[in-house]
Amino acid sequence: MTDQITLNPTPFPAASILGYPRIGRRRELKKAVEAYWAGKIDAAALDAAAREIQLGTARRLQGLGLTDAAAVPGTFSYYDQVLDAAAHLGAVPARFGNLLNAEAQLDIDGYFTLARGNTDQQPLEMTKWFDTNYHYLVPEIGPETNFALTSSRIVEEFEYALANGVETRPYLVGPVTFLLLSKASDGAPAGFNPLSRLEDVLPVYTALLQKLAAAGASWVQLDEPALVVDQDTPAEAIQAAVARSYEVLSAAARRPQLFVSTPYGALNGQLGTLAATGIDALHLDVFKGGVPSAAALAALGNKTLVAGVVDGHNIWRNDLAASAKKIAELKKSVAKLAISTSTSTQHVPHDVEEEVQLSAQLRSWLAFADQKATEVVTLAGLLTDPEAVQPAIDEATRVIASRAEAEGVRRAGVRARTAALAGADFSRSAYAVREAAQTKALHLPPLPTTTIGSFPQTGEIRTARARAIKGELSTEQYEQLMKDEIKRVVELQEELGFDVLVHGEPERNDMVQYFAENLEGFDVTVHGWVQSYGSRCTRPSILWGDVTRSAPITVEWARYAQSLTNKPMKGMLTGPVTILAWSFVRDDQPLGETANQVALALRDEIADLEAAGIKIIQVDEPALRELLPLRKADQAAYLDWSVKSFRLATAGAGDATQVHTHLCYSEFGAIIDAIDGLDADVTSIEAARSRMEVVHDLESHGFGRGVGPGVYDIHSPRVPGEQEVTELLSTAVKHVPSRQLWVNPDCGLKTRGYAETEESLRNLVTATRTVRAGL
Ligand code: GLN
Ligand code: ZN
Repeated sequence: MTDQITLNPTPFPAASILGYPRIGRRRELKKAVEAYWAGKIDAAALDAAAREIQLGTARRLQGLGLTDAAAVPGTFSYYDQVLDAAAHLGAVPARFGNLLNAEAQLDIDGYFTLARGNTDQQPLEMTKWFDTNYHYLVPEIGPETNFALTSSRIVEEFEYALANGVETRPYLVGPVTFLLLSKASDGAPAGFNPLSRLEDVLPVYTALLQKLAAAGASWVQLDEPALVVDQDTPAEAIQAAVARSYEVLSAAARRPQLFVSTPYGALNGQLGTLAATGIDALHLDVFKGGVPSAAALAALGNKTLVAGVVDGHNIWRNDLAASAKKIAELKKSVAKLAISTSTSTQHVPHDVEEEVQLSAQLRSWLAFADQKATEVVTLAGLLTDPEAVQPAIDEATRVIASRAEAEGVRRAGVRARTAALAGADFSRSAYAVREAAQTKALHLPPLPTTTIGSFPQTGEIRTARARAIKGELSTEQYEQLMKDEIKRVVELQEELGFDVLVHGEPERNDMVQYFAENLEGFDVTVHGWVQSYGSRCTRPSILWGDVTRSAPITVEWARYAQSLTNKPMKGMLTGPVTILAWSFVRDDQPLGETANQVALALRDEIADLEAAGIKIIQVDEPALRELLPLRKADQAAYLDWSVKSFRLATAGAGDATQVHTHLCYSEFGAIIDAIDGLDADVTSIEAARSRMEVVHDLESHGFGRGVGPGVYDIHSPRVPGEQEVTELLSTAVKHVPSRQLWVNPDCGLKTRGYAETEESLRNLVTATRTVRAGL
């Protein structure tokens, strides 16, 4: 391998990060992309905005000390990094017709068509990116996929940065991960594995690498996170694909140096395979995956080991002393060492220093993307001048120790309560007993109709909230506006004929942040947006201390809503697992312990709701599936604590109180035992998009309690016809005993408009009456 010609050879930068947020410090990319979609700006203006973000990032990171060539990652994306790979490799599904332009390139409109669909075609499917809250688009690959270099965007981006004085390190999802994350196209024969197209995709990678080298790139990053998780494809096949890919790519003449990154955990047995290829640098997630044995590392020979010691995925300040230890250990076993983050920092906000409203103490515990870059630079100092780094290490040690001692991190009352928990705290009476008590208390018709909780969050609601935050509305004025909205929503449901009502959740900005703002142990950010998918961002709360509830949160709203109707009003809470999943969570104790603290706060809230006359309480857990660990070996332990925390939250409810839960996905089968284990009286789930497929899982599992498979897909403005809903319900009653069946939409309605919502709900109620009549 030594005689391969790499263009522009330079050492791998001692300090670098795997990736950086691309949404912009003030969500500039979101604004530009959405303005472009709305036709408010043209492609040139979008391009200009993107360039400004890219250059801003490059300059920022240089300013933070990532000054070596190729230290700044070229991880910008208009939408998604997996879509970028598909766009460069010609993986455009045939179902879209010809999306390429006259030069056989996929331009920005074609690119966004894959992401967002058009009038004839659904977009590419979206799914979770490893164990993060980021979502990527799933490429569709078949025997017909015509791999070709259909974009040079990353080359142009590299050239633009270089012309402005920064040599970035272009980024591409690597070939093995790209194919493993893809699914078989509609036209592919049964059993087709996209990985079988490896030989056809490699020449396109080679061509792109050569273009990048010609443009002056000394290093290119090929991201292979799929190698850290369990795959359906057998390990030997993956190993062969890794070996083949990197033999072929490293054998190319006039290529850049190849850097393979493997974030999100320990490399799943492929370290030796990668070490045996001609790549030039390999990243390992040493933060989460630990330091491999000296023997395993010895295989790297002259390759640079890029140690991901700084966590890219959570927001806590790095324990520099612990990282220094790992670095010292690695130094003993490898010839060339460089320092980096464990994952891209795209999962954390830009800059802690923006959050001036947080206490200085809390800020000192945190590291967002910019602080992580600084930590990497500091740690890289250990490679040359360890003494100079010692004060920074001592400072980190001091701050982390002060965090353990700080007020609110450990609360004696909370600790005493969790320590005293016993088995009985996690269980309710037998379901038959509860069912009888609830039937008596609730007087519901067969196939009761309900909704999942939120009603459309109108412009007026959002404006009112913004004005209340600015102080332009008093608390009383704001609360009155929300009450007016609740009244409207209750009247609408009465008019439509729903059996179990909701208050519509107008007072909640977000189903997690709302609780975070009202519980002790949390703080929220102002600018802490992170990309969820495309232009969508979320602003996770920070769970830093022991969680307690200092006062009831939802009770007055629920009491008011119930006062407006004789029908049962559902109390609405977000479950412990979802609160954890959509927050940045403390790293100083097991997640299960933190979940139980949240559960106890919810348990108190449920007791207060019952006391206020609320007979049905829904505890949403849409993220239960989402937190499921990547490695099969870790899943049982996760399901154990997550199910327990839900049970702890709900088991204090009386027999006559009906506990509902809501889950947002239809691949129900995989964790159906856990869902059953939640022991909710009624479970609503997404089902409309899969045309009620889940009822088969329910049937074969013998699911014995109430269940509401969604009959209406709320992700699109399309109104389901009465006939359509009737058919879905008729399918459902064939597989699930009608006494168990509930009728509801797939999910909350907050993102929908009123016109389509009203019509859809009307059809839902009418269809239910038709099916009821035939029972
Ligand atoms: N109750 C919430 C709502 O209706 C549930 C949202 C969710 O499942 N993501 O909006
Ligand atoms: Zn949902």
